[in-house]
Amino acid sequence: MDYRTADDVAGFQRNLAAVQERIAAAAARSPYGQQVRLLPVSKTVPEERIRQAIAAGCTELGENKVQEAHRKWQALGDEDVSWSVIGHLQRNKAKLVAEFAAEFQALDSLRLAEALDRRLQAAGRSLDVFVQVNTSAEESKYGLAPEEVAGFLQAVPDYTSLRVRGLMTLAVFSEDTARVRGCFGRLRTLRDRLRQDVPDGVGLDELSMGMSGDFETAIEEGATTVRVGQAIFGPRGLPDSHYWPGAGTGAGG
Ligand SMILES: *Cc1c(COP(=O)(O)O)cnc(C)c1O
Repeated sequence: MDYRTADDVAGFQRNLAAVQERIAAAAARSPYGQQVRLLPVSKTVPEERIRQAIAAGCTELGENKVQEAHRKWQALGDEDVSWSVIGHLQRNKAKLVAEFAAEFQALDSLRLAEALDRRLQAAGRSLDVFVQVNTSAEESKYGLAPEEVAGFLQAVPDYTSLRVRGLMTLAVFSEDTARVRGCFGRLRTLRDRLRQDVPDGVGLDELSMGMSGDFETAIEEGATTVRVGQAIFGPRGLPDSHYWPGAGTGAGG
């Protein structure tokens, strides 16, 4: 996949329009008739270029690492943009997320839910969350095993400042589209099954799945949020293994 670096507002408008067009085409092919939200992922991108992306129309930004996200939130405090933390979070950093994030997509334990809720209550804030599910059965991937999610959803309403919106996954890192599609399909069928017995206050409408290399496949499988970095901002210098243990060095899925 060739990604074009954008380094002015027009460049971002071009990349965003191209991604939106591909999203619309994939949504038209999807049998699920869903609306698809584009979450631009700005990790590793410096603030000057993030300002260009915002000027080109980005109103939400996703970041994998909470300290990087927090730093950018502070530096870009004059911009009208909301922040989504999409990567694994250690409990001792729950306070940072509670301070600024509008959304957290990698909830994967009740201990983390407890830590977030405590910090959010103290700050008088609430947070939209996605429960991360490991759909590839890889040791290296974060997220709950599919069979753990039902029990988790029964317990999570205790943490009243968290609003569960849906499920999130990363597909297997593979060139094999059928395996990638299998991960996305597993998240959708899990969601459909869980929906039949979901506690009050827990929403499962959202499926966050798909990135630059595989968002069209994810949309065909029912994604309602796609997290897209490189197709908007250009190729990253750092290998994916910096963000996901075991990801190797490729663009991945
Ligand atoms: C970086 C990242 C993405 C976006 O990946 P791209 O290849 O840049 O589109 C999506 N989800 C998560 C969790 C990420 O860390």
